[in-house]
Amino acid sequence: MSLSASNLQNLKPAFDRLLRWYQQNARDLPWRQTQNPYFIWVSEVMLQQTQVNTVIPYYHRFLQRFPDVFSLANADDEALMALWQGLGYYARARNMRAAAQQMCELYGGELPSSQAELIKLKGFGPYTSAAVASIAFGQKAACVDGNVTRVISRLLATTEPVQQFVDRLIISHDPSHFNQSLMELGATVCSKQSPRCSACPLSSACRAFQEERIAEFPVKKKKVLVKEIYAAVFIPHQPDTPFPLRKRPASGRWAHLYELPTFEFESARARAAFLKDLPHHAQANEKGAFAHILTHQRIMTQVFSAHIASILDLPSTPWTPSQFATLDTVRALPLSRYQQKVLDIIERPE
Ligand code: SF4
Repeated sequence: MSLSASNLQNLKPAFDRLLRWYQQNARDLPWRQTQNPYFIWVSEVMLQQTQVNTVIPYYHRFLQRFPDVFSLANADDEALMALWQGLGYYARARNMRAAAQQMCELYGGELPSSQAELIKLKGFGPYTSAAVASIAFGQKAACVDGNVTRVISRLLATTEPVQQFVDRLIISHDPSHFNQSLMELGATVCSKQSPRCSACPLSSACRAFQEERIAEFPVKKKKVLVKEIYAAVFIPHQPDTPFPLRKRPASGRWAHLYELPTFEFESARARAAFLKDLPHHAQANEKGAFAHILTHQRIMTQVFSAHIASILDLPSTPWTPSQFATLDTVRALPLSRYQQKVLDIIERPE
């Protein structure tokens, strides 16, 4: 499918209605009350993979601690991770700091205003660079996220990638409001499962709605293969005993975050064999279990109290602590949500 000049002209009234709808219905969100490019950038990064309501308190705390590009460029790793703790995808925060350092070196601590310059910075992909360029600087850069893909593929009843269409549609509209109105419509009206077409400003132009083919768009992505991992985490029998800790490696899942003694296995059987072979004096005693779900992995975890020195001495699976800390100190360190769940088990009443 291609968008001819007359198709574009026909869609213009529908998009004018969308922009009016946005002005009347946009949610009152803190990052919509600012034109500060740095604040807009922070919000856009936090909103990736994360719900709006979750992001709001993180956004305020982050900007209180790092109010500008310079403070973020100089952020201490532990302070940065502590503020990001619970948002997940921790590489996003470290990439932001690296990009802030580039902005200090190359642009005097400011964000560059064009998508072409933004996209060269660490962590800026096509989406983030277009969002910042259009919302903060009014550039004609089209943002395509999951919400926009859903709206445009239904509007045009197309199975093709939608970036090319949005690039053409944005030309005759205010880019900031055009992008935000499409994203808002996808987030609040044109939902995946139950779009509210009767309340939609695009309904009279929407081919999928008119042809009753909404469920066909957008085309479903292939199902992601989820790998199962089995884990055992050990804590001391007495919660007032110092807990052994180490930082995870610099790359991969939960890079540089702290963890308690955690052992991972390919199968439930391998974990059971490991537990069976523990020496008697390790006195492992199960405290609880949980499943932690990531995009590509499901980590089935059992938490044990144990004679911790015996666990650390195991020759077959060496786990070397870098430090010991009280439970209160552990809580205050940068931890993944996964390790926080372990602490929840330790702290819940028997
Ligand atoms: Fe989505 Fe329905 Fe609006 Fe079409 S009419 S864009 S399917 S909400």
